[in-house]
Amino acid sequence: MENLGRREFIKGIWVSTLLPFIPQNAFGTVRKGIHVTLPEIKFQTTYLQGKRKGGRILLIGGIHGNEPGAYKSAEILRQVKVEKGELFIAPRSNFISILANVRGYNGDMNRKFAKLSKKDPDYPYVLKLKKLIKEIKPDVVLSLHDGFGFHILNKRFWGQCIVIDEERYKNFELGKIARTVSRLVNNKIRNKKWLIPVFNTHTFSKNTKHPEQRRSLTYYCLSKCNTQAYCLEASKQLPNLETKVKTHLLMLKEFFRIFNLEIKPDFDFLIENCERMLNERKTYTANLKINGRKIIISSNKAIKVPSKSEVEFLSFHGSDGTNVIPVGVNLNWRKFTIRDSLSLKIKDDYLDIFKVKLILI
Ligand SMILES: [Zn+2]
Repeated sequence: MENLGRREFIKGIWVSTLLPFIPQNAFGTVRKGIHVTLPEIKFQTTYLQGKRKGGRILLIGGIHGNEPGAYKSAEILRQVKVEKGELFIAPRSNFISILANVRGYNGDMNRKFAKLSKKDPDYPYVLKLKKLIKEIKPDVVLSLHDGFGFHILNKRFWGQCIVIDEERYKNFELGKIARTVSRLVNNKIRNKKWLIPVFNTHTFSKNTKHPEQRRSLTYYCLSKCNTQAYCLEASKQLPNLETKVKTHLLMLKEFFRIFNLEIKPDFDFLIENCERMLNERKTYTANLKINGRKIIISSNKAIKVPSKSEVEFLSFHGSDGTNVIPVGVNLNWRKFTIRDSLSLKIKDDYLDIFKVKLILI
């Protein structure tokens, strides 16, 4: 997963800072190179409250990093006004994996809700999600995904369906609600291969074929928080991002109606305009500090820096999906020293925007 390539990287903050009492000459070779600091990967949340009382929904996007239909739908809903009810959104639960555009840079985050070592790089984010659910106690948690394939064509595939853990759990009528959504959404889907059935994993049953789901977010919501939860799956194989987002919005429209939450503009407007919203042109910049001097970069740039330089990426302008990843370095490291030149990609979620190359002289 991590590719160190030819370069040699030294993890962590400067050794001399960690161990100030060790003679510097003992670390002479370590301190050479470029000291790079990247901004921390923040856990993003949005809370939107309507004037009128209604239901409370928590939307969780981006648990899997290579499912843009899911996290872009969550992002679109961050831009609306809530008229009735309360809407909580965690759009990029696994931001590192989104930037890397892989399912799970540190393994599958949706298998980390039962037990997780504090040493796991995903630990702080999983903990934040768990706390969020316990603290706000929403009426429902909707976890957004783009699964593989089309469930209607092959029952082994997870794409294009609504996943429930059981037909009924305590007083939650998971099957009934999911089937209502499925029926209403399917009325609007013309391509029969893209229909959205309900997929019951029977996670609580002794003979379940999916015991791994007992480590998932929805199982955690039901079993530990007494909160009903559903997985909304578009398909990775839909032709484009816009179709994936539209599929999510069609499902969300019905869930919002059932759980008594109204937004403005409404879902029909969002569905009609989602292509424009997804393709909105943005200006991107990266704000850096190199040896105390601030510079702003907005396109591909190579910068020559002498050894022992301190390069810090301070902030970005663009979108909430804008951040930086170093090429060939463990993405969990946000402070490191490099003894060779380094390329860094400025990204907007899965998209590469421009590159900054640091050339060691
Ligand atoms: Zn997924």
